[in-house]
Amino acid sequence: MNLIDLGWTEFFEKEFESFNGRGFKPLRIIREHKELYMLAGESGEYRGEITGKFRFEAKSRADFPAVGDWVVATPFENEAKAIIHAVLPRKSCFSRQAVLSGGQPETGGKTDEQVLASNIDTVLIVNGLDNDYSLRRMERYLSAAWDSGANPVIVLNKADICENIEAKIAEVEAITYDTPIHAMSAEKQSGLEQLDQYMVRGNTIVLLGSSGVGKSTIINQLLGEQRLKTQEIRQSDSKGRHTTTHRELVVLPEGGIVIDTPGMRLFKVWDGDEGLSHTFGDILELMSQCRFSDCKHRSEPGCAVKAALEEGILDQRRYDSYLKLQKEQNFLENRKNEAVFRKQQRDLGKYYKKILNEQNELRKKKLR
Ligand code: GDP
Ligand code: ZN
Repeated sequence: MNLIDLGWTEFFEKEFESFNGRGFKPLRIIREHKELYMLAGESGEYRGEITGKFRFEAKSRADFPAVGDWVVATPFENEAKAIIHAVLPRKSCFSRQAVLSGGQPETGGKTDEQVLASNIDTVLIVNGLDNDYSLRRMERYLSAAWDSGANPVIVLNKADICENIEAKIAEVEAITYDTPIHAMSAEKQSGLEQLDQYMVRGNTIVLLGSSGVGKSTIINQLLGEQRLKTQEIRQSDSKGRHTTTHRELVVLPEGGIVIDTPGMRLFKVWDGDEGLSHTFGDILELMSQCRFSDCKHRSEPGCAVKAALEEGILDQRRYDSYLKLQKEQNFLENRKNEAVFRKQQRDLGKYYKKILNEQNELRKKKLR
């Protein structure tokens, strides 16, 4: 396999430069389970482990390799094993806050952010065009995708059971601006070809969405054949090495790379269709009782929020999740405004171009 098929780009080439020439090879993490890794590179697949130095120097869980990462490794071809020395900087990544309770012994209790998948180019945000359809949730997934550094694409699945697709698309367009939108039915195998443009050589995709929207169905359509193919190859290579392991990063025969990890499956966004005011009505009520109308709820005198927190009337975690959600919403608002601004600039650009062209035409006519 060629590294480019696996998603290798100039970005990583540059990052790898300083490691070049000491027997190091770039390998991509295709599976991770309890610090045991499977990696893929030019000459095949390897089982990998990090060095003691790596573990010692890791400051947080986010420093550990994740599926999708490119790492600097020393491969031992005969044993199909590799030692991982470093993780190359990530182009993009999805992470979650790891559980803090007790801490993981292997990281000496230094648990915090955990990377679920990295170096993703395209995020397919999958929604079902059925009862489960929610614009608010879609906004949250969009925000998460933008946050990750990857490009979002909206997939409206189950088009077969939707009667007003056009109206739904218009609704979605209003909140997503320039994000591409594709309506399809994975089950009826119609419209899937719209995804071909993302299934191109070296492009890494991941699917996001609530459970039941059809992610597995789509992935199976994309990989169905590939899974079978890899199994055949494995059986005939007769070396019998890890034949049953299931990859969480798969290269499609036609090009394109799909990441499907348990962590990404469970990746959830706040499902606040009711909006902030509904869910956090009590907090908004408290805020209205602060002495100053522009209270920032930090150290202002007469702050009702601070008082409620101190007295334990308002749960700190609940307040934190309110702040987090609010930040997310502001972020989304900004991203939306940015998108609108860019579109306006483009439209303006087109407009000026048109005027310039007209003026040029006029001038030419006058010269004639
Ligand atoms: P996941 O939880 O997102 O992986 O969703 P699944 O792929 O498991 O699909 C959930 C259910 O939706 C299954 O019963 C699928 O058969 C069904 N489903 C998936 N795609 C479609 C579709 O395009 N149309 C309809 N009507 N049902 C679908
Ligand atoms: Zn206040």
